[in-house]
Amino acid sequence: MLATAKKNIRALELPELEQYFVEGLGDKKFRAKQVYEWLWQKHAHSFDAMTNLSKELRGTLASQFSLPALQVDATQYSADGTIKSRFKTVDAHLVEGVLIPTDDRKTACVSSQIGCSLSCKFCATGYMARKRNLDFDEIYDEVVLINQQSERVYEKKLSNIVFMGMGEPLLNYRNVLKAIDKITSPDGLGMSPRRITVSTAGVAKMIRQLGDDKVKFKLALSLHAANDTKRHEIMPINDTNNIAALIEALNYFYKQTGNEITFEYILFKEFNDSLRDADELIKIYRQVPADLVNIIEYNPIDMASFRKPEEDVVEKFMQHLEKNRVNARLRRSRGKDIDAACGQLANKES
Ligand code: SF4
Repeated sequence: MLATAKKNIRALELPELEQYFVEGLGDKKFRAKQVYEWLWQKHAHSFDAMTNLSKELRGTLASQFSLPALQVDATQYSADGTIKSRFKTVDAHLVEGVLIPTDDRKTACVSSQIGCSLSCKFCATGYMARKRNLDFDEIYDEVVLINQQSERVYEKKLSNIVFMGMGEPLLNYRNVLKAIDKITSPDGLGMSPRRITVSTAGVAKMIRQLGDDKVKFKLALSLHAANDTKRHEIMPINDTNNIAALIEALNYFYKQTGNEITFEYILFKEFNDSLRDADELIKIYRQVPADLVNIIEYNPIDMASFRKPEEDVVEKFMQHLEKNRVNARLRRSRGKDIDAACGQLANKES
């Protein structure tokens, strides 16, 4: 007889777990709640850890269900306080997450896929093949493990989460939304959705879907070039999701949700750093109810020849945006010394 794979217990919602306890085991309903708390609030990563259940019941659960959990595989500490973790999945894939501390914030940058299929030319992950999507419980584990790290090292809980790690979150839509649901649920981490930002390379159809689903979190669009010719050069996804389509989708998202929208724009030397580029960016900004433009310092990677512009060029670019009343902020990189900065995640050995 073929062995059948055990069902992941975290795939069961509370009512299903209650049904299992009452109808399947002839046990009390409240047992289900106890198990559910172990799974989502107390972050048990094995049935043995559920110490208020009898040994017998723990054994029964272990014989009928699996509890696959992410494990920390390696940790690197940057001189600036940034901490990069490499996580291992039960099927031995590696994925990275980063804790970025500032005085008033502790932000987790999390991954949504193992590798990425979008091949953005400036991004280390884009040079890895996409292996698979992360499941919702794996994404949840990333956040839990980074939160524990934040409490251990900085004695503070996470204040913010950005989906800007490996992978395109909107191409793993169902798992990302379900993970956010658990992260924001009082039965889970109870974080405010306003403290979560999902960043996309620009999948117009799914941006509209976020609007239809009336999500409560913030959205960031990785623009990085302000005309289709240049954007096509560095982000192949622009072929099927051009700037006009993205502007339309972002407006729809805003109309449906009223949620904050941010543009992300990495400055590349002599590619998108001229005042003419800034003018094109301003034009796009005026067509979308965006709150903010994050101008991001580029972090060189081995696979690409982009460079970061000189300081005076960055300054002129910023001044031009300011003069034109664009709410723009310059984001300096964090964790560069451990390849944890924006666009550098690629499971590289330390
Ligand atoms: S920038 Fe994001 S979408 Fe583009 S290749 Fe990297 S991980 Fe994928």
